[in-house]
Amino acid sequence: EHVLSQPTDKSNDKLLGGLLAAGFDEASCTSRYQSYLYRKTSLYQPSSYLISRLRNYEDLHKRCGPNTESYYRALEQLKSGQTVGSPDCKYVVWISFSGLGNRILSLASTFLYALLTNRVLLVDRGKDMADLFCEPFPEKSWFLPMDFPFIGQFESFDQKSSHCYGKMLKNSVLNASAESVPSYLYLHLVHDYDDHDKLFFCDEDQSLLAKAPWLITKTDNYFVPSLFLITSFEQELSKLFPEKGTIFHHLGRYLFHPSDHVWGLITRYYQIYLAKADESIGIQIRVFDSRPGPFKHVMDQILACTLKEKLLPEVDMQDSVVTLSENPKLKAVLVTSLNSGYSENLKNMYWEHPTLTGEVVGIYQPSHEEYQQTEKQMHNRKAWAEMYLLSLTDALVTSSWSTFGYVAQGLGGLKPWILYKPENETAPDPPCHRAMSMEPCFHAPPFYDCRAKKGTDTGALVPHVRHCEDMSWGLKVI
Ligand code: GDP
Repeated sequence: EHVLSQPTDKSNDKLLGGLLAAGFDEASCTSRYQSYLYRKTSLYQPSSYLISRLRNYEDLHKRCGPNTESYYRALEQLKSGQTVGSPDCKYVVWISFSGLGNRILSLASTFLYALLTNRVLLVDRGKDMADLFCEPFPEKSWFLPMDFPFIGQFESFDQKSSHCYGKMLKNSVLNASAESVPSYLYLHLVHDYDDHDKLFFCDEDQSLLAKAPWLITKTDNYFVPSLFLITSFEQELSKLFPEKGTIFHHLGRYLFHPSDHVWGLITRYYQIYLAKADESIGIQIRVFDSRPGPFKHVMDQILACTLKEKLLPEVDMQDSVVTLSENPKLKAVLVTSLNSGYSENLKNMYWEHPTLTGEVVGIYQPSHEEYQQTEKQMHNRKAWAEMYLLSLTDALVTSSWSTFGYVAQGLGGLKPWILYKPENETAPDPPCHRAMSMEPCFHAPPFYDCRAKKGTDTGALVPHVRHCEDMSWGLKVI
């Protein structure tokens, strides 16, 4: 009814429908206010409640962030080991851990947890977080100050650490009805976590954890789906995300702005290879095999999927159609893979033969890094640029089990076609399947009914948390 106040103007596009705060120095991070020039307007509007909670969070971060009075007070508590009274600011520290796709998803999950629990998120910069991303919050940094007490010890934090929550429960040093808690607790939420660590996902444990001024987490998972199964968060989550399958889509675009270096990689590549296309397709190929590849069964699967789903046009092997119009439609295919074999193959196919539709097909692959690397600065810059470029395409094909693909689909607001995981070196039939939602899959969810205190199928409790398409024991929000 309020036609005139409909948010359709350009400034609103620039702020992604109100998701981003205005007023950042534009020169400090080019991508923040330029991403809308490369992305189609999202089909999904963030709720006004989410927007107001984000603005509140930004205020909290300003008040409690690094080098504020409240931060120093909380730091004193941390050092003294005692929790006295209720502190004015509470924190959750995210430890940089695992591959880049995993990190992006686990950081988004931890931010949502911070929103739900009114904590301030502080990010361990690890080797390259500061090189890859801009600051998402106005005025105060999201990075943990370098003089934070345990900053040099994060790598050794594990299930044996003295402040590990699961371990303390197991050894009965702590129980869920305890009156006082240590000033910090370490939450081990890595895929190898045990039944005690998994109690994190129970209401009772959340009320205990709420008393600790500092939580320090290490995780390589997108644990959001299981937050939906915690009763005390349920109502808030449905207010934040009335459209359930949009959580990472909104939080990802809010949090992850490529640094200027990475933005250069993205925009140059986009302008050279994608901007002129009438249509673009992303194909993300991740093969979990220790041998280098390329593999014939994977190539077969990619072709079977993209041709069957009409994402790519068939070619005329007899070369009988010569109907090249003066202005053929250009389809750009962005392939990402550690290996160059698959895109070479596609490129040859579309060079050697005409398409039945008369379209011309360009195949582009930004890099082929051969294997996953951790020490090279450019390696993860390229990985991030490629995830982002995939998210700018019109349709997406992804590989099972890969967080790299989840990041692309979520940022892009795309429901991908997922290539099923091949078994015994044969292309599965059907080769791929359209995803139910663009949400990432939680690969290591708990299967525990906190109230009944027994095992349960957590993928069958509520309609919007289901098992994933690509991993039968995983959970995703739909
Ligand atoms: P996942 O292992 O597929 O879930 O994704 P992650 O991003 O967590 O870890 C895989 C890592 O391998 C990436 O971060 C990159 O370093 C590298 N990698 C995998 N696939 C690609 C790719 O297509 N392109 C580039 N540049 N790097 C890749």
